[in-house]
Amino acid sequence: MKVLLVEDEQKIAGFVSAGFKEQGFAVEHCDNGIDGYDRASTGVYDAIVLDIMLPGRDGLSILKSLRKAGNVTPIILLTARNELDDRIDGLSLGADDYLAKPFFVEELIARVQALLRRVSGERQNVLTVGELRLDRIGREVTWHSQSVDLTGREFNLVEYLMRSPGRVFTRTQILEHVWDYDFDPSTNVVDVCIQRIRKKMSSIGAGADSESPIESVRGVGYRFRKLP
Ligand code: CA
Repeated sequence: MKVLLVEDEQKIAGFVSAGFKEQGFAVEHCDNGIDGYDRASTGVYDAIVLDIMLPGRDGLSILKSLRKAGNVTPIILLTARNELDDRIDGLSLGADDYLAKPFFVEELIARVQALLRRVSGERQNVLTVGELRLDRIGREVTWHSQSVDLTGREFNLVEYLMRSPGRVFTRTQILEHVWDYDFDPSTNVVDVCIQRIRKKMSSIGAGADSESPIESVRGVGYRFRKLP
């Protein structure tokens, strides 16, 4: 589970990051609104913890832009004690929850975990794009109703691309999220893994539309085709 934390107060960022890491989360931290929006709109996170008062760009404006762009990542706002209007605005702009400062990190983590459970119950356990169906709980992928036998890594890669059909991911982004590398190992592991997935899918005789849903984008990376 990966959380993006956008918070300019170093002290808060420090204890929040430490708390999440202790609970097994990966945490990325930004200390201003410009970077925060940039990461939130290009990265893939299970949840975003977003402060409202930020240098560069405020949290509500970030929230609004993300939702407008169709980003549905669960977002919990951090508000100052007297920002009641902001909380109301935040919820109406599509925040999933808010927490007033000062708070205990245990409570923040509990709220985030509750959000993740709710979200996974509602929509994330089964992803369907066209004829491809991915069941996160059963760890099963079917293509044209036939089971595709994927390894754990292949499964995670399909899931990662499938969450954002039409969006292009670079090899570096894929490495970061599927392999958890934060460096480029200068190997073609991503390409090899995608070739294996394609091969497994194309071996399923499904007629005309059995073409792989994962497209190469020359010089950039890969994307999941938007399927009907
Ligand atoms: Ca702040």
